[in-house]
Amino acid sequence: MDQIYFDSAATTPVDEIVMEKMLPYFTHHFGNANSAHQFGRDCKVAIEDAREKVASLINAEPSEIIFTSGGTESDNAAIKGVVAATRKTEVITSPIEHHAVIHPAESLKMQGCRITYLEPDQNGIISADKVKGAITDDTAVVSLMHVNNEIGAINPIKEIADVCREKGVAFHSDTVQSVGKIPIDVKELGMNLLSISAHKIYGPKGIGVLYVKNGTPWIPWLQGGSQERRRRGGTSNVAGIVGLAEALELSITHQDEHFSHYQTLREIALEELNKRFRGKYQVNGPADGGMPNILNIGFISGEEEGLDGEMLLLNLDIDGICVSNGSACTSGAMEPSHVLEGIGVPEPIANSSIRVSFGKHNTEKDVRFFADKLEAILDRMMSAPAEK
Ligand code: PMP
Repeated sequence: MDQIYFDSAATTPVDEIVMEKMLPYFTHHFGNANSAHQFGRDCKVAIEDAREKVASLINAEPSEIIFTSGGTESDNAAIKGVVAATRKTEVITSPIEHHAVIHPAESLKMQGCRITYLEPDQNGIISADKVKGAITDDTAVVSLMHVNNEIGAINPIKEIADVCREKGVAFHSDTVQSVGKIPIDVKELGMNLLSISAHKIYGPKGIGVLYVKNGTPWIPWLQGGSQERRRRGGTSNVAGIVGLAEALELSITHQDEHFSHYQTLREIALEELNKRFRGKYQVNGPADGGMPNILNIGFISGEEEGLDGEMLLLNLDIDGICVSNGSACTSGAMEPSHVLEGIGVPEPIANSSIRVSFGKHNTEKDVRFFADKLEAILDRMMSAPAEK
């Protein structure tokens, strides 16, 4: 049985082209980029080439690019680094951010910071006006994601960056789910800090970028050796860095083509869902205007607790279809998704929800196969007596 992978917002396979570029840095060019000899210098050159490539792809300066271990580290370093540098005591964010933002914010709270959570609208969007109204003299940093990983909502980050700049407050945006999928030009958008992760864009896991605009009040979070101009200690992950730069270039080169492919898949999915379940399901988050690769749907079963989303996921898995319930990063912990809760999805529907996230390899046939299987599974689940 061929499996259908509909979980590309959780992670993606490494593209063959990316893999090819990385391989020599595991075996042949295995040096420590900090070593003064030839092995070290080869790696240093590869890292600096990658830095230039990444910088030019998002219109940043090479000196503004710091390689990290991924989105989680970049988010932690961004928020904690600005709070430490400014010695201010407030962080503004939202309740539907990724936990890589919420948990560091909560840990700052334990150290005496105030965390202000701005309420999103029902589509998961925070307006620039809301940000404007919340900033105080104590605010160190505003951290709001570009694209939400569970529902695909897109925040107006240019407007938010404008407001933050007017008020003289640093703005960090987690762009893990947007970079390589929609255009990002840091000079045009105007944020101070931005997080990238390679494994969402057909690059390797465990490597990311923190962009820090020159002049931003920020101090390093992960200290150690002199790597990354003393802004992030630790022996450089050369193969990862080379892979990230290649993956970013590839995904941006094919961005428009992939975007319209996802739009087509989403349209077909909604058409098939409407044919079968009209009135019995809802799209969580933006019905229109969000990212087309992320489709979050919940089912209206009439039962008090709602249909069991975990059971639905397992049944789809048995049929070879891989989706996620809520955020893949938290599945395993059986809590309702904080994102669905944050946009006001009623608990029975949140419990029954699944996230279907498309990747570049998915086909129209995959989507129709999914709809057929889903219909059969839901028929079974809805007719089975609920376990008491
Ligand atoms: N932010 C967002 C929006 C994400 O989707 C993820 C990955 N689930 C992360 C941060 C964490 O990135 P990483 O896995 O590279 O640590």
